[in-house]
Amino acid sequence: MITSYISHSECMLHDMGPWHPESPHRISSINQQLERSALAQELQHYNARPATEEQIIRVHPKAHVLSLELSQPEENAPLVQIDDDTLMNHQTMHAATMAAGAVVRGTEQVLKNQADNVFCAVRPPGHHAERVESMGFCFLNNVAIGVEHARQNFGIKRIAVIDFDVHHGNGTVDIYKNDPDVLVCSSFQHPFFPWRFVDSEWDNIINTPLNAGCNGPEFRKLVEASWLPALQIHRPEMIFISAGFDAHKDDPIGEINLVDDDFFWVTKMIMDVARTYSDGRIVSVLEGGYSLSALGSATHKHIEALKGL
Ligand SMILES: [Zn+2]
Repeated sequence: MITSYISHSECMLHDMGPWHPESPHRISSINQQLERSALAQELQHYNARPATEEQIIRVHPKAHVLSLELSQPEENAPLVQIDDDTLMNHQTMHAATMAAGAVVRGTEQVLKNQADNVFCAVRPPGHHAERVESMGFCFLNNVAIGVEHARQNFGIKRIAVIDFDVHHGNGTVDIYKNDPDVLVCSSFQHPFFPWRFVDSEWDNIINTPLNAGCNGPEFRKLVEASWLPALQIHRPEMIFISAGFDAHKDDPIGEINLVDDDFFWVTKMIMDVARTYSDGRIVSVLEGGYSLSALGSATHKHIEALKGL
C-alpha cells in the first residue's frame, strides 16, 4: 500500500497556552513515534498547502470565515477566547487553513491514484466546527472541506465520514444532516461534550453512543452493528476518517477504555469497507487525542493498518 503522510510545521503555530491539552506537542509525539519504529520511512511524506478561500467557503459561509479572521489577535496580544476552551493566537487561522489544505491535498492524491490512502497529521482539529460555529478546539471542519473537494472537483457522489473520536462529530453532522449523499457514522462517549445532535432524526447520520467505561470488545460490537449495515446500503465511493484517539484508556479527557489494538481493528474494518465499495480510497484526518504517549502509539497502529501491515 502507498500511504501518504501529510502534515506541516505551521500546524504547530496555533497554540492555546501551556496548560491546554490540544497542544503543538501532539504532532511531535506522533512524528517521534513513527520515527522511532522506522514506520516513518515507509510513508510518502508531503507538506500541506493552505486551503484556498474558495475551498473553505464551500463549507463555511464567507462571513463566518471573515469573522474568525477578524477575531484573531495581533502578535503579542492576549489569546482570544471563542468558547470555554477554544482560543485563538495570532497564527490560528494560518494553522487552520493549513490543516484543511492537508485534507484537500490528501483527497487529490487518493483520487489521482498517487496514494492508496492518506493520513493527515494536522491541528487544529475540525470535527466540532459547525457550518457557522467554531467550538471544541475546532475552527474549520477539515474533513468537510476535503469532502467538498472530492465532490466538487472530482465528481464523487457518495461519501462516508467515519468518526471514532471520543466526542461526537457534531460539526460534521451539522454540515451534512440534510445531505443524504454523505453518510456520517460517529461513535462517542455519551453523555459528554458537545451534547448536540445526539438524537439523530436523519437517515444518513448514524450515532453510536458509548457508555463511560466502554471497552474494546463492547466498542467493536457496537460499531460493527451500527456502522456496517449503513455503509453497505450507502456504498461510499470514498471514505474520510475523523481519527480521534481520545477514546484510548490512557486519555486524560475521555472515559472510554480502548487500547492501541482497537484502533488497528477499527482501521482494518474501515479498510475492508473501502476495498469493497470505494476502490480502497481513504483519507484519514487527526482529530482529538490528548495523552501524548497514547496518541503516539494509537496513531502508529492506525497508520500501520492503513499501510497494510
Ligand atoms: Zn475528541
